[in-house]
Amino acid sequence: MNILIINAGSSSLKYQLIDMSTETLLAKGLCERIGIEGSNITQKVGEKKYERTLPLPDHAAAFEAVVAALTDAENGVIADMSSIGAVGHRVLHGGADFTASALIDGPVLKAIEDNIPLGPLHNPANLTGILACRKIMPDVPMVAVFDTAFHQTMPRRAYLYGIPYRYYTEWKLRRYGFHGTSHRFVSAEAIRLLGNPAHSKVVICHLGNGSSMSAVVDGRCVDTSMGLTPLEGMLMGTRSGDLDPAVVGVIGEREGMAAQDVVTMLNKKSGFMGLSDGLSSDWRDIYAAYAQGDDRGVRTAEVFAYRIRKYIGSYAAAMNGLDAVVFTAGIGENSADARRLILEDTEFLGIRLDEEKNRRNELYIQAADSRVKVMVVPTNEELAIARDTLEIVSGQ
Ligand code: AMP
Repeated sequence: MNILIINAGSSSLKYQLIDMSTETLLAKGLCERIGIEGSNITQKVGEKKYERTLPLPDHAAAFEAVVAALTDAENGVIADMSSIGAVGHRVLHGGADFTASALIDGPVLKAIEDNIPLGPLHNPANLTGILACRKIMPDVPMVAVFDTAFHQTMPRRAYLYGIPYRYYTEWKLRRYGFHGTSHRFVSAEAIRLLGNPAHSKVVICHLGNGSSMSAVVDGRCVDTSMGLTPLEGMLMGTRSGDLDPAVVGVIGEREGMAAQDVVTMLNKKSGFMGLSDGLSSDWRDIYAAYAQGDDRGVRTAEVFAYRIRKYIGSYAAAMNGLDAVVFTAGIGENSADARRLILEDTEFLGIRLDEEKNRRNELYIQAADSRVKVMVVPTNEELAIARDTLEIVSGQ
């Protein structure tokens, strides 16, 4: 079965078409600047590239452009849309309503809508993407795959904030966690490779432009670093990660900014970008500056690595043990320098890196005498979404 994966943002729509009989990627594309002047679509099929600049006033128009690209006589991959058996939609926030992926029907659409206050930027876009797709493919089954679902197994002690309880009961304010599809995919793969599915304590470090970590015991998430929103936790490309909430009040007062504007600054102008004084939000630039002794890179890389190291220690304590530390996503999979900096001085936890293996981005990069395994496992969120979609529509 061919499965179309849709990841709709507020002004973008990413998609992949996967042949699930062999789990082969058939096409991958992106609509950008939806609702803005200069909108375009690009699609890659192996070496073949399809590019068009065309007006995309809304997601429905974007979806029509996707259909045109996929079925293009010259650079397309399918004759018509009837060869698509199902669609999997990435949805940011499932709140506490979804512990797993779900077949999209009326109640599921309503629940995604009900969770808009928790994901005000993404859930409306995800919903618009689903509706636009349904208009063109009304009879094709669709599945919603939630970024939050994997973390729903967190115990209460890990997800409650220390604020008046009524904010939780009335407004559902708690920690949810994100990147769940990646954490689930990578932890399952690591546990399978370790050969100990029944008894395993692993820490997943998803380090990309957005970064998060999770503590996974026997395949179930017991803690994760992102919270109510993706702002909590690691130092990220443009997000501050953990900080004293009093900072919001102080900056608001000193700079005459509304609280929501300060939060926007913490999301969009902080992290690598902010701490490096505008040098870059990209790890490669930060590390290049670090390597040259430029303090903008040195301080940023140090804070980044130190915070992740502290989380590894705290998750080992939370799980009362540690079998493996697993690196994934853009930085985690590719940057031996980041992994080396993060795992400095962790012998106490039983972690020792083999720098040669680390340099070569091997699957196992721990030294022979390391008690804890250190792994590099590529993530593939789209494939995870496609697998869920196939499983759910096959079980109908
Ligand atoms: P992602 O959000 O998973 O695409 O990851 C983006 C981050 O990965 C950026 O900070 C990049 O600098 C970093 N990254 C991607 N490729 C490499 C690489 N080959 N070496 C080091 N960092 C990389």
